[in-house]
Amino acid sequence: MTTANIAVVGLAVMGSNLARNLASREGNTVAVYNRTTSKTDDLIAAHPEAGFVKAATMEELAASLQRPRTAIVMVKAGRPTDAVIDELVRVFEPGDIIVDGGNALFTDTIRREAAVRETGIHFVGCGISGGEEGALNGPSLMPGGTVESYETLGPILRSIAAVADGEPCVTHIGADGAGHFVKMVHNGIEYADMQLIAEAYDLIRRGTGKSPAEIADVFDEWNRGELESYLIEITAEVLRQVDAATGQPLVDVILDAAGAKGTGAWTVQTALDLGVPVSGIAEAVFARSLSSRLDQRAAARDLPGPSGSWRVDDADAFVEDVRQALFASKIVAYSQGFDEIVAAAEQYGWDIQKGEVARIWRAGCIIRAQFLNHITEAYAADPALPALVVAPYFRDAIARTQEAWRRVVVAAARAGIPSPAFSSSLAYYDGLRAERLPAALVQGQRDFFGAHTYRRVDREGTFHTQWSGDR
Ligand code: NAP
Repeated sequence: MTTANIAVVGLAVMGSNLARNLASREGNTVAVYNRTTSKTDDLIAAHPEAGFVKAATMEELAASLQRPRTAIVMVKAGRPTDAVIDELVRVFEPGDIIVDGGNALFTDTIRREAAVRETGIHFVGCGISGGEEGALNGPSLMPGGTVESYETLGPILRSIAAVADGEPCVTHIGADGAGHFVKMVHNGIEYADMQLIAEAYDLIRRGTGKSPAEIADVFDEWNRGELESYLIEITAEVLRQVDAATGQPLVDVILDAAGAKGTGAWTVQTALDLGVPVSGIAEAVFARSLSSRLDQRAAARDLPGPSGSWRVDDADAFVEDVRQALFASKIVAYSQGFDEIVAAAEQYGWDIQKGEVARIWRAGCIIRAQFLNHITEAYAADPALPALVVAPYFRDAIARTQEAWRRVVVAAARAGIPSPAFSSSLAYYDGLRAERLPAALVQGQRDFFGAHTYRRVDREGTFHTQWSGDR
């Protein structure tokens, strides 16, 4: 019986929440399918208000859908996604649409799109951000795929997306893997943002002796200014949490070994391939790796560092310096992330509207923040902006914060407190603005030992020197 206009395949936490979100919107009837049918039954029984249409088999799913059929796949990334796509291709027809809403690697999405396109079926890789809460109440959605498929899919996605300033947080990102690519970079930026916030907390705690609860107050205050964001907001909540078992601040009871699911690493691996220096994001990924090497950390505990304990003279002034350092470093992280998007758009032929990307990240996703409006404005003023850091708003912001940023990095180095994201962001900024870099010397070395040649500042062409060391 043809009754549903959209299907969700895969009813674990993300899929079931997304299905409920879809069902709650006017005009949608949602068919639901899960490999293990008991989960489908459980979802339908728990939410009679949703009016779900049960599909026990893929054939039933196909039969329940209006044409063009549209199914959103929310299963485990990797092989399970391939298996489900194969099954859908078997029961769908040309013109139908398969959407992968899982966390796929964008190159997998490019491969899948090409293969599914052969059958006349549309394949859309759609980045979905916001976790289970976002899936239920409104995520930020980053669909790729064809413009044609977006004509059918767009209204459905707009109906469930988070809303910022009255606008749904969804836009057609670009062809094939563009949506999953942009979602990946979102996660990379998220890693950097989280690491920067963690470094700010650590410096304030060790420099001023404030308790986690007192630092929570600092973050609450920051959340009322230019740093206002979801991550700052939840940081205050995490720091204020007390462990019921011990009465200690929970942050002191949590093992300091950060996990990762891989999208941050993908962002960095892809950036290496594209030749884009996303050093802040890379440091954030490496900081998690370092934190998890518990045996090495234990073995290194007695290595020498600065002697004596460290306290700043003026706690309020230091907190304000850290706030400014955080803002400046955050600008660098976003600038690097958008550089990666620009480079990939060129490499893969995607027409990505950078301002739109910032716009759809303003609600529903983990890095949501008012700050993103300035990115949208910067790209609206100059779509060919060479780097976000040179846009007037960001240039001015760094101009007024860079002295504090430098003081914080110096203080951290002197005190022996690791601040990899703060310091690498500053090094990147100084590298970018340097009139001359020692890369000239590197080129000389390369030519010396490998005859790799170099270019000159005063003449066109490539050159090789007969070095005196040549034998
Ligand atoms: P999950 O644990 O990643 O996957 C469980 C689902 O996959 C179940 O429905 C399971 O069916 C199905 N599945 C596993 N292997 C299968 C196979 N070989 N054939 C058919 N179905 C198979 O679920 P999740 O946490 O809800 O995540 C779903 C997707 O969203 C994943 O790609 C995940 O990476 C992504 N995700 C995104 C966010 C976000 O914030 N955007 C957050 C979490 C997850 P059975 O019940 O039959 O085992």
